Amino acid sequence: MSPLYLAAPAVVAAAAAGIAVYGAGYPRSQIFGPTICRTNSPRKLAITFDDGPNPAITPKLLDLLDRYNAKATFFLIGRFVRECPELVKETVARGHTVGNHTETHPNLFWLNPTQVRVELRLCHKAIHNAVGTPPKWFRPPFGMRNPWVIPAAHELGCQSVMWTLIPGDWLEKPAEWLIPRMQPIATHAQKTAKSNSPAPGGTGDILCLHDGSHRDLNADRTRTLAALEHWLPRWRDLGLEFVTIDQAVGTPAP
Ligand SMILES: [Zn+2]
Repeated sequence: MSPLYLAAPAVVAAAAAGIAVYGAGYPRSQIFGPTICRTNSPRKLAITFDDGPNPAITPKLLDLLDRYNAKATFFLIGRFVRECPELVKETVARGHTVGNHTETHPNLFWLNPTQVRVELRLCHKAIHNAVGTPPKWFRPPFGMRNPWVIPAAHELGCQSVMWTLIPGDWLEKPAEWLIPRMQPIATHAQKTAKSNSPAPGGTGDILCLHDGSHRDLNADRTRTLAALEHWLPRWRDLGLEFVTIDQAVGTPAP
């Protein structure tokens, strides 16, 4: 038997594993089902926040967003929603959109279909109870999917939302580190402004930030606030509009 022949199964297995890892974690992979990865216009920036609600940060963030007339999307953890339903209500009352980020923030890749369903359903219910309407959007924790995740979201009437940029604001780094990591949004907007031809649809950015931590309530996310204080006026001056995911994909009114 040739050594090449012997090696073939190993190569195939490695390739299959590679595809599975790509499908599970790569933000724009569609292997395990369709996801939204961009807004429908290069002028529209969808700022999204995961792992809240967070009583220590979210209220300050809402005030900051108001100053720039910015609307955003918050992917919430169900067990935190139950602890601060009023904050979730206020987030929606101030024009933002809330979405499902599971009940306890597990890595869904390792869960079986029933476990995935339970994680999504509990959070779905918590949000529905808090704001009176069910969420329409879902984001998998860590961006990780398996073949059951997107269908489970669909069963609840939710579309899955990923991102174009995730600058890593959960890391213990100063705002001076975080701010340049958010530069690609401005660079993209500058490029679009320079090209006179209207850019094709579906090219705007979705930014993934964090107003909470999946480990505990009241996590310190002041660096995320500081980075946004830096960027919001600059992005505004570049002509960007800060929209919710509803506005970013142009979902018609029901
Ligand atoms: Zn998360």
